[in-house]
Amino acid sequence: DRAAAAQSSGRPARTTDGLQILVGANLGSLDDALTAAESGADLAGLVRTEFLFSGRDTAPDVDEQVEVYRTLAETIGGRRLTLRTLDVGGDKPLSYAPTPAGANPFLGVRGLRLSLAHPALFRDQLRAIVRVARETSVSIMFPMVSTLTEVHAARRLLDEVIASEGHGTPAGLEVGIMVEVPAVALKAAEFAAAIDFFSIGTNDLTQYALAAERGNPDVAAIGDAYDPGVLALIRAVCQGAAGGPQVAVCGDLAGDPRAAALLVGLGVGTLSVSPPAIPLVKQAVRAVDSGQAEDLAVTAIAMPGPAEVRALCFDRDEGRQ
Ligand code: PEP
Ligand code: MG
Repeated sequence: DRAAAAQSSGRPARTTDGLQILVGANLGSLDDALTAAESGADLAGLVRTEFLFSGRDTAPDVDEQVEVYRTLAETIGGRRLTLRTLDVGGDKPLSYAPTPAGANPFLGVRGLRLSLAHPALFRDQLRAIVRVARETSVSIMFPMVSTLTEVHAARRLLDEVIASEGHGTPAGLEVGIMVEVPAVALKAAEFAAAIDFFSIGTNDLTQYALAAERGNPDVAAIGDAYDPGVLALIRAVCQGAAGGPQVAVCGDLAGDPRAAALLVGLGVGTLSVSPPAIPLVKQAVRAVDSGQAEDLAVTAIAMPGPAEVRALCFDRDEGRQ
């Protein structure tokens, strides 16, 4: 129950056969970091840095960003901070980083595409992240990646910033990408060579895999992260990453305790969730046998649709309680 989950949330989450699954927090504010610290987050698996950039006329400068990232790190007790670079554009335009409107904003200039189109803005953010990475464990994560060319371009800018700072690459700095575009999931092995970790954004991955706009109630039943097609893409990432980068899930699916066995069975090693969900997700992980979870994942992917997958996962969950 909730009370027991809260009590044990500071401890690591291990499956019954001893596999540790990291349970991190998704942060979109300083308040979130406080809740994450109280809830026993193993790391911040996703910092949505947009909160620093939105609703203002100019971008935050390097010093302001350093201050905020440093405060987040302190608030979560120096645990690893996964800073996602700016993920706006399309439906969330910024006045100081204009992008062509386009008829389909979700398919337009957003995420990493926007950062690459505004290199001065992007460099400032990379510089702030690199500076904080000299003080505390930091991962940098690029959102809305579609091609290796983009990853190489982003890394080149990062290397330039590191070189211009003049102290070498910060120890412990890891570089990863979000997997939100189906083509990236299917080509994970090729991306694996260029990065340190993958983090699957099931919210956008589901939207793009099923061609169902997120947040549109008329297609919500189609855009279901439990769809076996989405699960097959998650499995493709884990298989492509085998023996290499760690795989995390930071989309909303990770925050559903009833999906924990499924995700562990698919090969996911880190779940990053909204801070209040951490205790229950850790508790769900502790009930998982990883061998049984692998079987569950194989069965789920072979199911006809999301309703059957949900029934499979939810029945299992009830049996456990
Ligand atoms: C996602 O797409 O699943 C994700 C975590 O990113 P966001 O919800 O911020 O788009
Ligand atoms: Mg996303």
